[in-house]
Amino acid sequence: MKDTDEIQFQETVSQFLIRHRSILDVQSKLVEAAARVNRAVAKSVTTCGCISINADRQRFPADVSLREVRDLLNTHLYGEMCEKCREVAESEIGATLFYLAALCSLLNLNLRDVLEKEYSRVNALGVFHLT
Ligand SMILES: [Zn+2]
Repeated sequence: MKDTDEIQFQETVSQFLIRHRSILDVQSKLVEAAARVNRAVAKSVTTCGCISINADRQRFPADVSLREVRDLLNTHLYGEMCEKCREVAESEIGATLFYLAALCSLLNLNLRDVLEKEYSRVNALGVFHLT
């Protein structure tokens, strides 16, 4: 994806934003889209079974550095998403990005600027950006 594509993405989203022009519609569609991402992951576990979740309390020694803690923490996720589940997850994440770009447009924010600022913040905080 070229730099100009990223700028055009928000522009294109804005043009297609006819049915959900109100900020209230965009806000609720964004939350709904994000919930559908979670639903896609849940269905990969409970319907398809290509991935599974086995979670328990995170345990690590008290005397390790933050850098080492990262390697000791468990994702609780086992397996790999199959092609079909991957496509569904990508599609739902795409819809979430669509409404995120739409929200930015309505609020006169630039999604690319937001992304760049967050990237700088993550880079600056390094290992302390664990949340
Ligand atoms: Zn699957």
